[in-house]
This record gives sequence, structure tokens and C-alpha cells, in this order.
Amino acid sequence: MKEQEDKPKLEDIKKAVATPKPNILTGLPAYLKDPGVYKKIQKASYEILGSICGHSEMSEWAMCVKCQKKGKDHADYLRKLGFTSPAQYYAWKLVHAKIERRVKLR
Ligand SMILES: [Zn+2]
Repeated sequence: MKEQEDKPKLEDIKKAVATPKPNILTGLPAYLKDPGVYKKIQKASYEILGSICGHSEMSEWAMCVKCQKKGKDHADYLRKLGFTSPAQYYAWKLVHAKIERRVKLR
């Protein structure tokens, strides 16, 4: 009985893994898949956004000319790299953070 209950679940998982989802990362340049490139971009992003003022409120940050300039510079940088949206960049970051964690565990 238990086995019969478990089997469809496993199938569902397999199906979910095998079914290509509409992926936000589709269309990214191939070089962005390199974990070494990820590290370089993280470093460059940190340098661009680096000494952010440290606003505690999002509204303060949104009003700060310096921070807005940095945000725009960073967006321009990401666009030059081939990202089409900030959401795509964050999805890409998540994927690489996961890969990095897996590599460290070895
Ligand atoms: Zn600021």
C-alpha cells in the first residue's frame, strides 16, 4: 500500500524535473554559465555598488542621487553583459550561488 502511494509521487517529481519550464535564463549568453565568470561579475558588481550609503529605509535609498546613479551604472553594466532584466540577473545569481555551494561541499 505504501509503495503504491509513493510511486506516483516519484513520477511527479521526475516529470517536474524533466519538463522544461519557461525559464527566465533562456537566451543568456553561454559564457555567463561559467562559474569563474560569475565570480568576476560578482566582484565587479560589488565594486560598482560597493560603498553604498547604508540607508536603513528603502525610501531613503530611492531618494539618494548617489545610490540611484550606482544603481543605474550597475543596470548598464548588466545590460552590457547580456542580461535582459534585473529579474534575470537575480535568477542567474541564485543558480550560481547554488552551484558554488555544491562545489564547496565536495
Ligand atoms: Zn545613498
